[in-house]
Amino acid sequence: MTVGSGDRIVETVRFTYRLRPGKQAEAALEAEWPRCRWLWNEAVHQEKSGSKPTLCKLSKLLTGARSRCAWLRAGSQTAQQQTLRIYARALNDSFKVKGRGKPVAKTRKNSDLSLEYTTNGFTVRDGRLELAKCPAIPVVWSRELPSQPKTVTIYRDNLGHWYASFVVTRETEVLPDLDTGIGIDFGVKTTAATTDSAYDQPHRQRRRVAHRELSTAQRTMARRYRGARAQSKRYKKARLAAAKLQKKAARQAKHDARLWARRVVDDHGLIAAEDFKPRFLAKSTMARTAADAAISATKRTLIEYGRRAHRKVVLVRPAYTTMTCGECFARNKRLPLKVRIFQCATCDHTADRDRNAARVILAVAERGHTCVDDLVSFLPRLRSELEIPRL
Ligand SMILES: [Zn+2]
Repeated sequence: MTVGSGDRIVETVRFTYRLRPGKQAEAALEAEWPRCRWLWNEAVHQEKSGSKPTLCKLSKLLTGARSRCAWLRAGSQTAQQQTLRIYARALNDSFKVKGRGKPVAKTRKNSDLSLEYTTNGFTVRDGRLELAKCPAIPVVWSRELPSQPKTVTIYRDNLGHWYASFVVTRETEVLPDLDTGIGIDFGVKTTAATTDSAYDQPHRQRRRVAHRELSTAQRTMARRYRGARAQSKRYKKARLAAAKLQKKAARQAKHDARLWARRVVDDHGLIAAEDFKPRFLAKSTMARTAADAAISATKRTLIEYGRRAHRKVVLVRPAYTTMTCGECFARNKRLPLKVRIFQCATCDHTADRDRNAARVILAVAERGHTCVDDLVSFLPRLRSELEIPRL
Protein backbone atom coordinates (compact mmCIF):
# COMPACT_ATOMS: atom_id res chain seq x y z
CA MET A 1 0.00 0.00 0.00
CA THR A 2 1.40 3.40 -0.89
CA VAL A 3 0.50 6.44 1.15
CA GLY A 4 0.66 10.04 0.07
CA SER A 5 0.99 13.25 1.99
CA GLY A 6 -2.04 14.29 3.98
CA ASP A 7 -3.40 10.70 4.19
CA ARG A 8 -4.50 9.60 7.61
CA ILE A 9 -2.96 6.33 8.72
CA VAL A 10 -3.39 4.14 11.77
CA GLU A 11 -0.17 3.03 13.41
CA THR A 12 0.47 0.64 16.27
CA VAL A 13 2.76 2.01 18.97
CA ARG A 14 3.69 1.45 22.58
CA PHE A 15 2.81 3.91 25.35
CA THR A 16 4.71 3.33 28.58
CA TYR A 17 3.77 4.62 32.03
CA ARG A 18 5.30 4.40 35.45
CA LEU A 19 3.41 2.23 37.95
CA ARG A 20 3.24 2.68 41.70
CA PRO A 21 2.19 -0.75 42.99
CA GLY A 22 1.48 -1.22 46.69
CA LYS A 23 3.14 -3.92 48.79
CA GLN A 24 0.46 -6.50 48.00
CA ALA A 25 0.38 -5.82 44.28
CA GLU A 26 4.15 -6.02 44.15
CA ALA A 27 4.09 -9.35 45.97
CA ALA A 28 1.41 -10.66 43.58
CA LEU A 29 3.46 -9.68 40.50
CA GLU A 30 6.61 -11.13 42.00
CA ALA A 31 4.77 -14.40 42.66
CA GLU A 32 3.37 -14.48 39.10
CA TRP A 33 6.79 -14.25 37.49
CA PRO A 34 8.23 -17.64 38.72
CA ARG A 35 5.08 -19.41 37.52
CA CYS A 36 5.45 -17.93 34.03
CA ARG A 37 9.15 -18.62 34.09
CA TRP A 38 8.48 -22.27 34.95
CA LEU A 39 6.18 -22.57 31.94
CA TRP A 40 8.75 -20.96 29.66
CA ASN A 41 11.48 -23.30 30.91
CA GLU A 42 9.16 -26.28 30.48
CA ALA A 43 8.67 -25.26 26.83
CA VAL A 44 12.45 -24.90 26.36
CA HIS A 45 12.92 -28.38 27.85
CA GLN A 46 10.29 -29.88 25.50
CA GLU A 47 11.99 -28.35 22.49
CA LYS A 48 15.38 -29.68 23.63
CA SER A 49 14.00 -33.19 24.08
CA GLY A 50 12.75 -33.09 20.51
CA SER A 51 8.97 -32.85 20.93
CA LYS A 52 8.51 -29.70 18.78
CA PRO A 53 6.34 -27.54 21.06
CA THR A 54 3.79 -25.66 18.97
CA LEU A 55 1.51 -23.09 20.60
CA CYS A 56 -1.38 -25.57 20.34
CA LYS A 57 0.58 -28.29 22.20
CA LEU A 58 1.79 -25.81 24.79
CA SER A 59 -1.73 -24.53 25.44
CA LYS A 60 -2.89 -28.09 26.09
CA LEU A 61 0.03 -28.55 28.42
CA LEU A 62 -1.00 -25.42 30.30
CA THR A 63 -4.61 -26.54 30.66
CA GLY A 64 -3.49 -29.94 31.98
CA ALA A 65 -0.94 -28.46 34.35
CA ARG A 66 -3.43 -25.91 35.71
CA SER A 67 -5.97 -28.63 36.49
CA ARG A 68 -3.33 -30.65 38.34
CA CYS A 69 -1.35 -27.95 40.16
CA ALA A 70 -3.03 -25.59 42.59
CA TRP A 71 0.05 -23.32 42.69
CA LEU A 72 -0.27 -22.69 38.96
CA ARG A 73 -4.02 -22.04 39.26
CA ALA A 74 -3.26 -19.38 41.86
CA GLY A 75 -1.87 -17.21 39.06
CA SER A 76 -3.43 -15.50 36.06
CA GLN A 77 -4.17 -17.74 33.09
CA THR A 78 -3.78 -14.80 30.69
CA ALA A 79 -0.24 -14.03 31.83
CA GLN A 80 0.70 -17.72 31.63
CA GLN A 81 -0.89 -18.18 28.21
CA GLN A 82 0.91 -15.08 26.92
CA THR A 83 4.25 -16.42 28.18
CA LEU A 84 3.76 -19.50 26.00
CA ARG A 85 2.61 -17.39 23.07
CA ILE A 86 5.76 -15.27 23.30
CA TYR A 87 7.83 -18.46 23.50
CA ALA A 88 6.18 -19.91 20.39
CA ARG A 89 6.80 -16.66 18.51
CA ALA A 90 10.46 -16.59 19.62
CA LEU A 91 10.94 -20.22 18.51
CA ASN A 92 9.33 -19.48 15.15
CA ASP A 93 11.55 -16.42 14.66
CA SER A 94 14.66 -18.49 15.40
CA PHE A 95 13.95 -20.47 12.20
CA LYS A 96 13.03 -17.50 10.05
CA VAL A 97 15.12 -14.54 11.21
CA LYS A 98 18.82 -14.74 10.40
CA GLY A 99 21.11 -14.64 13.42
CA ARG A 100 18.29 -15.21 15.91
CA GLY A 101 19.01 -18.08 18.31
CA LYS A 102 16.53 -20.47 19.90
CA PRO A 103 14.88 -19.25 23.12
CA VAL A 104 16.86 -20.28 26.19
CA ALA A 105 15.85 -21.04 29.76
CA LYS A 106 15.15 -18.06 32.01
CA THR A 107 16.94 -18.39 35.32
CA ARG A 108 16.12 -16.44 38.45
CA LYS A 109 19.35 -14.47 38.15
CA ASN A 110 19.67 -13.79 34.44
CA SER A 111 16.11 -12.79 33.58
CA ASP A 112 14.13 -9.66 34.38
CA LEU A 113 10.51 -9.76 35.42
CA SER A 114 8.15 -9.23 32.49
CA LEU A 115 4.47 -10.20 32.31
CA GLU A 116 2.10 -9.73 29.40
CA TYR A 117 -1.69 -9.53 29.63
CA THR A 118 -4.28 -9.40 26.85
CA THR A 119 -7.67 -7.69 27.15
CA ASN A 120 -9.06 -10.70 29.08
CA GLY A 121 -6.54 -10.10 31.82
CA PHE A 122 -6.61 -6.37 32.45
CA THR A 123 -8.79 -3.27 32.62
CA VAL A 124 -8.15 0.38 33.30
CA ARG A 125 -10.69 1.63 35.83
CA ASP A 126 -10.72 4.92 37.75
CA GLY A 127 -7.21 5.67 36.58
CA ARG A 128 -5.88 2.43 38.02
CA LEU A 129 -4.67 -0.70 36.28
CA GLU A 130 -6.49 -3.85 37.31
CA LEU A 131 -4.69 -7.07 36.45
CA ALA A 132 -6.04 -10.58 36.87
CA LYS A 133 -5.26 -12.01 40.33
CA CYS A 134 -3.55 -8.82 41.46
CA PRO A 135 -4.72 -5.79 43.50
CA ALA A 136 -5.31 -2.58 41.51
CA ILE A 137 -2.19 -0.57 40.71
CA PRO A 138 -2.08 3.26 40.51
CA VAL A 139 -0.61 4.49 37.20
CA VAL A 140 1.26 7.76 36.62
CA TRP A 141 -0.67 9.00 33.57
CA SER A 142 2.06 11.16 32.04
CA ARG A 143 0.00 11.47 28.81
CA GLU A 144 -3.37 10.30 27.62
CA LEU A 145 -3.83 6.87 26.01
CA PRO A 146 -4.80 7.45 22.36
CA SER A 147 -7.07 4.39 22.18
CA GLN A 148 -8.23 1.30 24.04
CA PRO A 149 -5.05 -0.78 24.63
CA LYS A 150 -4.84 -4.33 23.22
CA THR A 151 -2.15 -5.75 25.45
CA VAL A 152 -0.06 -4.56 28.35
CA THR A 153 3.41 -5.65 29.45
CA ILE A 154 4.35 -5.14 33.08
CA TYR A 155 8.05 -4.98 33.79
CA ARG A 156 10.54 -3.86 36.41
CA ASP A 157 13.85 -2.22 35.49
CA ASN A 158 17.20 -2.60 37.24
CA LEU A 159 16.39 0.29 39.60
CA GLY A 160 13.32 -1.56 40.87
CA HIS A 161 10.86 0.82 39.13
CA TRP A 162 7.68 -0.68 37.70
CA TYR A 163 6.26 0.16 34.27
CA ALA A 164 3.25 -0.72 32.15
CA SER A 165 3.76 -0.69 28.40
CA PHE A 166 0.44 -0.56 26.50
CA VAL A 167 0.08 -1.54 22.85
CA VAL A 168 -2.27 1.02 21.28
CA THR A 169 -3.25 2.29 17.85
CA ARG A 170 -3.27 5.94 16.96
CA GLU A 171 -4.24 7.92 13.91
CA THR A 172 -1.66 10.25 12.38
CA GLU A 173 -1.38 12.31 9.25
CA VAL A 174 1.36 11.48 6.71
CA LEU A 175 3.90 14.30 6.48
CA PRO A 176 3.98 16.32 3.25
CA ASP A 177 6.28 14.94 0.51
CA LEU A 178 9.62 16.72 0.30
CA ASP A 179 12.37 16.50 -2.32
CA THR A 180 15.09 17.51 0.13
CA GLY A 181 17.73 14.99 1.12
CA ILE A 182 20.19 14.76 3.97
CA GLY A 183 23.37 12.71 4.38
CA ILE A 184 24.37 11.61 7.87
CA ASP A 185 27.75 10.38 9.04
CA PHE A 186 27.91 8.98 12.59
CA GLY A 187 31.07 9.49 14.58
CA VAL A 188 32.69 9.99 17.93
CA LYS A 189 33.69 13.64 17.54
CA THR A 190 30.23 14.71 16.39
CA THR A 191 27.55 12.11 17.06
CA ALA A 192 25.87 12.82 13.72
CA ALA A 193 27.51 15.09 11.13
CA THR A 194 25.15 16.01 8.30
CA THR A 195 25.33 17.68 4.90
CA ASP A 196 23.56 20.69 6.43
CA SER A 197 25.36 21.97 9.54
CA ALA A 198 22.05 23.21 11.02
CA TYR A 199 21.09 19.57 11.60
CA ASP A 200 24.35 18.38 13.18
CA GLN A 201 23.99 16.52 16.45
CA PRO A 202 27.00 17.36 18.64
CA HIS A 203 28.44 14.90 21.14
CA ARG A 204 26.61 15.96 24.30
CA GLN A 205 28.85 13.98 26.67
CA ARG A 206 26.07 13.13 29.08
CA ARG A 207 28.08 10.49 30.88
CA ARG A 208 31.13 12.70 31.19
CA VAL A 209 29.03 15.40 32.82
CA ALA A 210 27.76 12.83 35.32
CA HIS A 211 31.30 11.52 35.76
CA ARG A 212 32.16 13.13 39.10
CA GLU A 213 28.99 12.00 40.83
CA LEU A 214 29.36 8.59 39.23
CA SER A 215 32.92 8.09 40.39
CA THR A 216 31.92 9.03 43.96
CA ALA A 217 29.11 6.48 43.82
CA GLN A 218 31.39 3.81 42.41
CA ARG A 219 34.02 4.47 45.08
CA THR A 220 31.38 3.98 47.77
CA MET A 221 30.43 0.72 46.08
CA ALA A 222 34.05 -0.46 46.02
CA ARG A 223 34.47 0.36 49.73
CA ARG A 224 31.45 -1.68 50.69
CA TYR A 225 32.20 -4.64 48.43
CA ARG A 226 32.64 -7.89 50.34
CA GLY A 227 34.13 -10.17 47.68
CA ALA A 228 32.65 -13.65 47.39
CA ARG A 229 30.49 -13.25 50.53
CA ALA A 230 26.90 -12.09 50.32
CA GLN A 231 26.72 -8.33 49.81
CA SER A 232 25.47 -6.03 52.57
CA LYS A 233 22.41 -3.82 52.42
CA ARG A 234 24.67 -0.78 52.32
CA TYR A 235 26.48 -2.17 49.27
CA LYS A 236 23.19 -2.76 47.47
CA LYS A 237 22.14 0.79 48.28
CA ALA A 238 25.38 2.16 46.84
CA ARG A 239 25.00 0.01 43.72
CA LEU A 240 21.50 1.38 43.22
CA ALA A 241 22.77 4.97 43.54
CA ALA A 242 25.41 4.34 40.85
CA ALA A 243 22.89 2.60 38.59
CA LYS A 244 20.53 5.58 38.93
CA LEU A 245 23.20 7.97 37.67
CA GLN A 246 23.97 5.71 34.70
CA LYS A 247 20.30 5.47 33.88
CA LYS A 248 19.87 9.24 34.03
CA ALA A 249 22.68 9.78 31.51
CA ALA A 250 21.24 7.10 29.21
CA ARG A 251 17.77 8.67 29.38
CA GLN A 252 19.16 12.10 28.54
CA ALA A 253 20.98 10.63 25.52
CA LYS A 254 17.75 8.95 24.39
CA HIS A 255 15.84 12.19 24.75
CA ASP A 256 18.49 14.08 22.73
CA ALA A 257 18.28 11.43 20.00
CA ARG A 258 14.49 11.73 19.79
CA LEU A 259 14.45 15.51 19.47
CA TRP A 260 17.14 15.39 16.79
CA ALA A 261 15.54 12.56 14.79
CA ARG A 262 12.15 14.29 14.84
CA ARG A 263 13.69 17.47 13.37
CA VAL A 264 15.60 15.58 10.66
CA VAL A 265 12.59 13.47 9.65
CA ASP A 266 10.19 16.44 9.57
CA ASP A 267 12.36 18.43 7.14
CA HIS A 268 13.73 15.82 4.71
CA GLY A 269 12.25 13.44 2.17
CA LEU A 270 15.38 11.32 1.72
CA ILE A 271 17.43 10.29 4.71
CA ALA A 272 20.79 8.73 3.84
CA ALA A 273 22.60 7.47 6.93
CA GLU A 274 25.83 5.63 7.42
CA ASP A 275 25.18 1.99 8.32
CA PHE A 276 27.34 2.35 11.38
CA LYS A 277 28.46 -0.81 13.22
CA PRO A 278 29.06 0.17 16.85
CA ARG A 279 30.79 -3.13 17.61
CA PHE A 280 33.85 -1.86 15.81
CA LEU A 281 34.25 1.12 18.13
CA ALA A 282 33.38 -0.80 21.27
CA LYS A 283 36.57 -2.83 20.78
CA SER A 284 38.73 0.24 20.21
CA THR A 285 40.50 2.50 22.70
CA MET A 286 37.66 5.00 22.33
CA ALA A 287 35.07 2.61 23.72
CA ARG A 288 34.00 4.90 26.54
CA THR A 289 33.67 8.01 24.41
CA ALA A 290 31.85 6.00 21.78
CA ALA A 291 29.37 4.60 24.29
CA ASP A 292 28.77 8.09 25.62
CA ALA A 293 28.07 9.40 22.13
CA ALA A 294 25.02 7.09 22.08
CA ILE A 295 25.48 6.48 18.36
CA SER A 296 23.43 3.29 18.28
CA ALA A 297 20.49 4.90 20.06
CA THR A 298 20.64 7.89 17.70
CA LYS A 299 20.77 5.68 14.59
CA ARG A 300 17.99 3.40 15.80
CA THR A 301 15.70 6.31 16.65
CA LEU A 302 16.34 7.95 13.28
CA ILE A 303 15.50 4.78 11.34
CA GLU A 304 12.37 4.17 13.39
CA TYR A 305 11.06 7.73 13.05
CA GLY A 306 11.92 7.86 9.34
CA ARG A 307 10.15 4.62 8.47
CA ARG A 308 7.15 5.51 10.58
CA ALA A 309 6.82 8.83 8.72
CA HIS A 310 7.11 6.99 5.35
CA ARG A 311 10.36 8.77 4.52
CA LYS A 312 12.89 7.10 2.26
CA VAL A 313 15.59 5.82 4.63
CA VAL A 314 18.77 4.51 2.96
CA LEU A 315 21.57 2.89 4.93
CA VAL A 316 24.92 3.31 3.19
CA ARG A 317 27.85 0.97 3.89
CA PRO A 318 30.58 2.92 5.74
CA ALA A 319 33.49 1.59 3.60
CA TYR A 320 35.36 4.37 1.71
CA THR A 321 32.94 7.14 2.72
CA THR A 322 35.70 9.16 4.42
CA MET A 323 38.26 8.50 1.64
CA THR A 324 36.04 9.58 -1.25
CA CYS A 325 35.76 13.20 -2.34
CA GLY A 326 32.26 14.65 -2.03
CA GLU A 327 32.85 16.93 -5.02
CA CYS A 328 34.42 14.76 -7.75
CA PHE A 329 34.07 11.28 -6.09
CA ALA A 330 37.76 10.46 -6.56
CA ARG A 331 39.14 8.05 -3.99
CA ASN A 332 41.91 9.52 -1.84
CA LYS A 333 44.39 8.08 0.64
CA ARG A 334 43.09 6.93 4.01
CA LEU A 335 42.93 9.79 6.52
CA PRO A 336 44.38 9.21 10.00
CA LEU A 337 41.68 9.77 12.63
CA LYS A 338 43.33 12.90 14.02
CA VAL A 339 43.18 14.68 10.63
CA ARG A 340 39.85 16.49 10.72
CA ILE A 341 40.07 18.27 7.35
CA PHE A 342 39.63 16.38 4.10
CA GLN A 343 41.50 17.59 1.05
CA CYS A 344 41.03 16.03 -2.36
CA ALA A 345 44.21 15.33 -4.33
CA THR A 346 42.30 15.44 -7.62
CA CYS A 347 40.13 18.57 -7.48
CA ASP A 348 41.55 20.31 -4.37
CA HIS A 349 38.13 20.29 -2.68
CA THR A 350 38.58 20.98 1.03
CA ALA A 351 35.96 20.28 3.68
CA ASP A 352 35.47 19.07 7.20
CA ARG A 353 36.17 15.33 7.28
CA ASP A 354 32.74 14.30 8.58
CA ARG A 355 30.82 16.77 6.43
CA ASN A 356 32.58 15.40 3.32
CA ALA A 357 31.63 11.85 4.32
CA ALA A 358 28.01 12.94 4.80
CA ARG A 359 28.02 14.42 1.28
CA VAL A 360 29.35 11.15 -0.17
CA ILE A 361 26.69 9.18 1.71
CA LEU A 362 23.94 11.43 0.34
CA ALA A 363 25.34 11.20 -3.20
CA VAL A 364 25.37 7.38 -3.01
CA ALA A 365 21.77 7.24 -1.77
CA GLU A 366 20.49 9.83 -4.27
CA ARG A 367 21.68 7.61 -7.11
CA GLY A 368 19.90 4.60 -5.65
CA HIS A 369 22.95 2.77 -4.31
CA THR A 370 23.97 1.60 -0.87
CA CYS A 371 27.74 1.50 -1.14
CA VAL A 372 30.47 3.76 -2.47
CA ASP A 373 31.83 1.13 -4.87
CA ASP A 374 28.57 1.23 -6.84
CA LEU A 375 29.02 4.95 -7.22
CA VAL A 376 32.61 4.55 -8.45
CA SER A 377 31.60 2.10 -11.19
CA PHE A 378 29.24 4.82 -12.28
CA LEU A 379 31.96 7.47 -12.27
CA PRO A 380 32.83 8.02 -15.97
CA ARG A 381 29.28 9.17 -16.69
CA LEU A 382 29.20 11.26 -13.56
CA ARG A 383 32.49 12.96 -14.45
CA SER A 384 31.15 14.03 -17.83
CA GLU A 385 28.00 15.28 -16.10
CA LEU A 386 30.07 17.43 -13.79
CA GLU A 387 32.53 18.35 -16.56
CA ILE A 388 35.54 17.34 -14.56
CA PRO A 389 38.58 16.56 -16.71
CA ARG A 390 40.03 13.08 -16.35
CA LEU A 391 43.58 13.26 -14.96
ZN1 LIG B 1 37.73 15.89 -5.48
